[in-house]
Amino acid sequence: MEDEVIRGRDAQRHIVEIAIEVASRVRKTLGPLGFDMMLVDRMGEHLQTNDGATILKMQDFRDPVAKMIVEVAKAQEEQVFDGTTTTVILLSELLRLADTLIERGIHPNDISRGYREGLRIALESAKSNSFSLDPQEGAMEAAKTALTGKTAGDYSDKLIDLCATAALSARPEEAKILAMPGNTEDSQVIEGVVVMKEPCLSAMPSKAKGKILVLDEDLAPPQANISLSDPTKIAEIAKVQDEYIKNRLNSILELDVKVVFCQKQIDSRAQQVFRKAGILALRQVRKSDIHRIAEVTGATIVSDLASLSEEDIGTGEVNFVKAKPNAYTTITGPEKGSISILLYAITEQSAQEIMRALDDAIGVAWLVATEPNMVTGAGTIQNQMARAIEKAVPTLDSKAEAAKLAFAEALLLIPKTLAESAGMDLMDTMHELSQDADAGVDALAGAVSHMSVREPLAVVQSAMKAAVENSVALLRTHAIIKSKSFQEMFEESHR
Ligand code: ADP
Ligand code: MG
Repeated sequence: MEDEVIRGRDAQRHIVEIAIEVASRVRKTLGPLGFDMMLVDRMGEHLQTNDGATILKMQDFRDPVAKMIVEVAKAQEEQVFDGTTTTVILLSELLRLADTLIERGIHPNDISRGYREGLRIALESAKSNSFSLDPQEGAMEAAKTALTGKTAGDYSDKLIDLCATAALSARPEEAKILAMPGNTEDSQVIEGVVVMKEPCLSAMPSKAKGKILVLDEDLAPPQANISLSDPTKIAEIAKVQDEYIKNRLNSILELDVKVVFCQKQIDSRAQQVFRKAGILALRQVRKSDIHRIAEVTGATIVSDLASLSEEDIGTGEVNFVKAKPNAYTTITGPEKGSISILLYAITEQSAQEIMRALDDAIGVAWLVATEPNMVTGAGTIQNQMARAIEKAVPTLDSKAEAAKLAFAEALLLIPKTLAESAGMDLMDTMHELSQDADAGVDALAGAVSHMSVREPLAVVQSAMKAAVENSVALLRTHAIIKSKSFQEMFEESHR
């Protein structure tokens, strides 16, 4: 019942093998002609996606090295929203090339030095090859690149616009996407919060402006837990309940509240009281929405009406929109920076896949709107960086120099993979790229040319840094100790 231990050179070989395997799961999705992957889980649920991070997250990797690579992809997505496939491909290629260098007798420490020097030159080159666009244009260009090759790319004009609008008005985490059946071309960005709810009663106003109460308390009288047969007693209890409701609601009416959002129930009597007072009330509003409403309106979430005071009340404008097939209510208030995206899609599956692409695209659009440096994509930036490394005057010893050049070679795997997905001749393509540092791969035309694909500098920088830091860390691994899982130990003890 011992743990499995892999040491020394075997550990290195294992790491390389696993990295290549992990990268192979996403490599074919890269770029505008990248394939989608269909993932089927143990329950038979399937999911079709082109998103590298999603593919990796869905795999049930047991191996610690594979798990670490998935974490690297996740970190890339969390930090810069895009470039996850690129990161994983680079990391795996750096490890593969390190393996061949080790075979040639080069020590991992020399490789690390070479890779770091290569990274330094590449980062410098990326910076000097970057340019800035105005926020609106930059946001649109970044969104366009991020949507390329995804289902969402089929509606790109509409969605690019939508991503840029979203990115220019809110932080990505404040942009909430609501998916519903319909025509994707009708999708829209709405300022503030949107809830898929209608007023409790159709006789309530459908628009209101002014004071807003956000409540997470039940607006229902305590239930009488006695069985009654005497009709006069029943009437009496009903009267007591009415009184109770009126008293509870009085404080709301006195404060001249125009809209009530309640996370819990609003009983029919309370609904009538509100209707008579001309109040627009929504009940059973989701907790997450309640929080967002409180945020934009400046309201405090009230959990006990007995202690309701003027300070708890927020302000804003509420509109009930009777759209088909789904009616919704919009809420805006003095606190800006929150938006909602109504995303219409034909099927639940396509809605999910478009949402994943929008997450990336809104993220990079926001990135560029805040930090405008962009580089040319389609493998161009990697070509530029690789040539800069090749041209740089050698400053290291020959072993580390070899690793530095290997780093340049690893970068070129990005244009190479794009060319491969387009069925282009790889020898010719790589030769042409070596002749023109500013050329990239026009996958759609199947040619090497000067491209106008733009992507954020930050995505490229982050992908390379993550690939280098993690490959260097993995190369230093002396032993991998795989502890047996509880299940395995259990099975063995029964053998
Ligand atoms: P990642 O997860 O790394 O973002 P993608 O599948 O989104 O993977 O592919 C991104 C790569 O595709 C980038 O290198 C980008 O420059 C490139 N790319 C985007 N649009 C085009 C295009 N029209 N032609 C060639 N390459 C493109
Ligand atoms: Mg991408």
